[in-house]
Amino acid sequence: MAKVYTLTCKKCTFKGTYRIGTDDNRAAWTESLSARIEAGEFGVEAQQFYAAHTSAEIQAVWAVFRCSNCGNIEERIRLSLFDTTYEFVYRNICGKCGERMAQVTDIAGVHCPICKVPLDAVEEALL
Ligand SMILES: [Zn+2]
Ligand SMILES: [Zn+2]
Repeated sequence: MAKVYTLTCKKCTFKGTYRIGTDDNRAAWTESLSARIEAGEFGVEAQQFYAAHTSAEIQAVWAVFRCSNCGNIEERIRLSLFDTTYEFVYRNICGKCGERMAQVTDIAGVHCPICKVPLDAVEEALL
């Protein structure tokens, strides 16, 4: 189950839409993620881990991620692969500066990447 939020800035024209949560069709989503991991979309490390641990469970959720270096915010997938004793956690890297991004746990606490003021969050009705 996913929620969609539109974040807008009171001071500038910044506006973005972000999904949080999981796809309703978990089986199909997991299958598509599996193909994307195998295709290398989540990096070489994830690809190699998955190749070595073919029965690993995929845990994934859409979330807002923020770059601690440049303040860029993006909708990303928080992805983990669990095997019985091994775990791989995918690191989201900022599309703008290449630094590591951290998950924002409170949508109300997201700041404008330009003005650094809190953004207004409005939950959108799902279609
Ligand atoms: Zn702003
Ligand atoms: Zn950045």
